Amino acid sequence: MDVSRLLDELNDKQREAVAAPASDMLILAGAGSGKTRVLVHRMAWLMDVEGLAPYSILAVTFTNKAAREMRGRVEQLQGSALRNMWIGTFHGIAHRLLRAHYAEAKLPENFQILDSDDQYRLVRRVLKSLNLDEKHWAPKHVQWYINGNKDEGLRPEHIETHGDASQQKMREIYQVYQQTCDRAGLVDFAELLLRAHELWLHNPNVLAHYQQRFRCILVDEFQDTNNIQYAWLRLLACPANNMIIVGDDDQSIYGWRGANVQNIQHFLRDYSQAKTIRLEQNYRSSGNILRAANAVISNNEGRLGKELWTEDAEGELISLYAGFNELDEARFNVSRIKDWRDKGYALADCAILYRNNAQSRVLEEALLQESIAYRIYGGLRFFERQEIRDALAYLRLINQNIDDAAFERIVNTPTRGLGDKTLSLVREVAKENEQSLWLSAVQLIEEKRLSGRALSALDNFIKLIKQLQHDINELNLEQQADHVIKHSGLFAMYKAEKGEKAQTRIENLEELVTACKQFTPPDEAENMSPLSAFLAHATLESGETQAESHQDAVQMMTIHTAKGLEFPLVILAGVEEGMFPSQMSNEEPGKIEEERRLCYVGMTRAMQKLYITYAENRRLYGQEKYHTPSRFIKEIPSEYIEEVRLRTTISRPVHNRFSPVTGHTAFDSTGFSLGQRVSHPKFGEGTVLNYEGAGEHARIQINFDEFGSKWLVLSFAKLNPA
Ligand code: ATP
Ligand code: MG
Repeated sequence: MDVSRLLDELNDKQREAVAAPASDMLILAGAGSGKTRVLVHRMAWLMDVEGLAPYSILAVTFTNKAAREMRGRVEQLQGSALRNMWIGTFHGIAHRLLRAHYAEAKLPENFQILDSDDQYRLVRRVLKSLNLDEKHWAPKHVQWYINGNKDEGLRPEHIETHGDASQQKMREIYQVYQQTCDRAGLVDFAELLLRAHELWLHNPNVLAHYQQRFRCILVDEFQDTNNIQYAWLRLLACPANNMIIVGDDDQSIYGWRGANVQNIQHFLRDYSQAKTIRLEQNYRSSGNILRAANAVISNNEGRLGKELWTEDAEGELISLYAGFNELDEARFNVSRIKDWRDKGYALADCAILYRNNAQSRVLEEALLQESIAYRIYGGLRFFERQEIRDALAYLRLINQNIDDAAFERIVNTPTRGLGDKTLSLVREVAKENEQSLWLSAVQLIEEKRLSGRALSALDNFIKLIKQLQHDINELNLEQQADHVIKHSGLFAMYKAEKGEKAQTRIENLEELVTACKQFTPPDEAENMSPLSAFLAHATLESGETQAESHQDAVQMMTIHTAKGLEFPLVILAGVEEGMFPSQMSNEEPGKIEEERRLCYVGMTRAMQKLYITYAENRRLYGQEKYHTPSRFIKEIPSEYIEEVRLRTTISRPVHNRFSPVTGHTAFDSTGFSLGQRVSHPKFGEGTVLNYEGAGEHARIQINFDEFGSKWLVLSFAKLNPA
């Protein structure tokens, strides 16, 4: 058999890993050294040379996007589609297991996934039912507590409170929250993993089946597994099968979410026969980028230690731009992307990476202004938009009446005159009888325990859902979505709202119908109705992509989301103290190092060209802050970086003065630049902060020393340089 295609284009070390005899293996290597490539080739090798069926291979990646890419690459090597191979994220795989074994996992057949937004609402509801004040019991904190415990494999009864009253209260909240979820057939993200772990723990026969099935388990980005994920892998990977993990301690960036880089050491302890292979050649980034990234990460202590080298030429220097403010920074970034495009390169080869999702808005606006297409991964996600969530909630409630989160969301959307009092009563009855909101509502109606108006409003709602349920029974998925959107009142509600936003909402709802039409259920959905499969898909996907589009577009995402990916051109934006590293990381030990690893991840996404930009002033969350460049910029040796200095000059709008002599329109244009000191006859002196628009409509923002910040129409403001 010709296996050379599996070994060509690999270096010796990589080849050793790909062609190793069956064994447990750790591939420990830095960014861009071909770890993921080795996994892909190993999978092909296992099938072609070791004769493993695709059915016997399990591959775990960190994001759905990475999973899709991995499947694509294996299929390309094999030249055929591999329907039976399990490739997915931990969450995706856990979900698949729970669907297949819902009864053993003590879940209703139609259980729904609760995403983090729904979870937040549910936590608030639980707090309310316990009469707890959100000021003292911040819902976000409660959410973090619940998920954190689940990530450690802890149920309320496992938590030691040491007699501490507030700890006990927390535990009680967790308990009530969990009961509520169980009653409503809801599973949050952390629960997916914990349940899947318990499924195996409590059902040895189920576990044995998968132990026999998966002869080889491959895990990418292992450094970011958390304890429950590792425990889950431990159960699965018995001596009869092999586990191959790849990871890079320098890219461990999910510590804040419970990831435990020590799992690498645990693996070496638990699988003492495992072979370790190190890869040191980087194939991704040009010399300057790689050496700069190496220099930055070398400031961390306690690394497992590795230095990457490349055969590539130095390439271009890293370019650094200091924007006067975030708008100036965004305009600069967009101008670089335009240049790139004008040289004939694809927009899809450019990525803008940032620390926080909130930073994207300004960048988005700058791109929109220049009509440059962009796509955001994570962030403004299609399935998270309000109207989409509303429509999905209708579908969910229709699909499963006991879905309390869906019930809550739409019981009064559109408004049908249901007051807080009525809803509180429904919740109370639900709590008393430990049953769903739906059942409680039905009960209240039957027992006529409500006043006339409330009774008929609630009755109408229940009837509406039942009617819809009946109507869509025989329809296909696309028709179901269309019918529910049109007949639930949602469409009419958004139609009645005026303005562009409402229009976008309508378009999004239409897009949802299209999404249903384009949806092909994955293999694991074979026993589910198309609607259930779609709802699960919508929840799992909402974390990552937007509606598919084949347009060439700039890729925008947080650095966390960019893990494992690569782009010819990368712009790292907002690299200033207080943003990156974040303000908070200054206060917690070890956090700066995690931020530095994040910086390393960001820099090493770049293949040919890297821009690093920051803003000296930034308005975020409604506050103006002055920032110094990030310490990470200072850690880059000067020989790898060049500073770009071009402060935008605002041209004063054209003053159309008709000249009777020449018959031409003459104009004068006086430049002001951002950050310049100016004076105004009435407001005195100030600093130019910002501008927008052009021509007669141009406006300029000045921060006056005495009067604070003001927007002035440039053509009327009698401004002079100070
Ligand atoms: P990360 O840590 O960022 O996930 P990685 O170690 O998984 O990186 P890959 O994504 O597998 O690295 O590889 C980085 C790039 O180098 C890819 O474009 C890959 O195709 C290429 N590459 C890897 N090995 C080789 C090789 N031996 N010859 C040529 N190109 C290679
Ligand atoms: Mg990788």
